[in-house]
Amino acid sequence: MIIIMESNSTHEQIENVLETVKKLGFRPHISYGEEKTIIGVIGDERQISDSIFKSLPGVENVIPILKPYKLVSREFKKESTIIKIGDVLIGNGHRAVIAGPCSVENEDQIIQSAMIAKKYGANLLRGGAYKPRTSPYTFQGLGVEGLKLLQKAKEITGLPIVTEVMEVNEVEIVAEYADVLQIGTRNMQNYRLLKAVGKINKPVLLKRGMAATLQEFLMSAEYILSEGNYNVILCERGIRTFVDYTRNTLDLNIIPAVKKLSHLPIVVDPSHGTGRRDFVIPMSLAAIAAGADGIIIEMHPEPNKSISDADQTISPAQFEELMKKIKSLENLMKSWG
Ligand code: PEP
Ligand code: MN
Repeated sequence: MIIIMESNSTHEQIENVLETVKKLGFRPHISYGEEKTIIGVIGDERQISDSIFKSLPGVENVIPILKPYKLVSREFKKESTIIKIGDVLIGNGHRAVIAGPCSVENEDQIIQSAMIAKKYGANLLRGGAYKPRTSPYTFQGLGVEGLKLLQKAKEITGLPIVTEVMEVNEVEIVAEYADVLQIGTRNMQNYRLLKAVGKINKPVLLKRGMAATLQEFLMSAEYILSEGNYNVILCERGIRTFVDYTRNTLDLNIIPAVKKLSHLPIVVDPSHGTGRRDFVIPMSLAAIAAGADGIIIEMHPEPNKSISDADQTISPAQFEELMKKIKSLENLMKSWG
């Protein structure tokens, strides 16, 4: 349940509510809004009645949250969350374009990618240093060396870095270099990893598991928030279906669904969602038109030479075209109100 404090409630009244929550064996999560302070009560709330809190001084209302996810829910927080990454904002009308290669391959490749991304207006640079690959015999990523190259690319272009972390014991090193830590589709339900990134103070880009339901996706985000990290960006990257003309099926339905149920921003990855270079532009535009808070795109200076995910990686010229089309779409969308 969530406890909504009166807008003029005092510090002592808030403290009193927090203490009461703890005494009853629950965990309080406090959120200071523009107008009101809201306290989330975390635990099996079937065991308490809301009347205990309703009678406390300073409490305006108590609302039960029946859904299993609490902190990520719109019931807990009405306003859409805006994630700040340096000067870049994502959420509540602020859109970001994240672009770069699937993997960091070498210095020249990542610096060129970053410069192209910057030139055409990307807001963040992507690139995997730790790669979850289907085959153990393919390129597994440059590891720390890759992180250092990303840092160089950031120094040159100023673009903040989005990069994947795969292991609990690598969270610290990845967080040292990354501005946003990506949790890949295969790790969406790696609960230890989710808890570990919940303990750091950097934003997390959480990719939807390739077979995950909306509820499972939100529960995974809940893991991160419940550890204290509220800076989560959800990412739809396509799910497994019976179709065989694309690598995955990009589930754009999830954008309005997430917006209804959660305050967290959601970005879309049409590269993995389609697996096809020729589908990336139309599906990026579709995602933005459907209300996505951004897109994450695989782009490489020489896409055919990409060590990983070449088939879905667009060229600099295609990226330029995409960015132009996004601008005109955004202008059109302004008239939608
Ligand atoms: C990636 O972004 O390159 C990646 C491995 O993504 P996913 O986890 O969505 O497959
Ligand atoms: Mn990839």
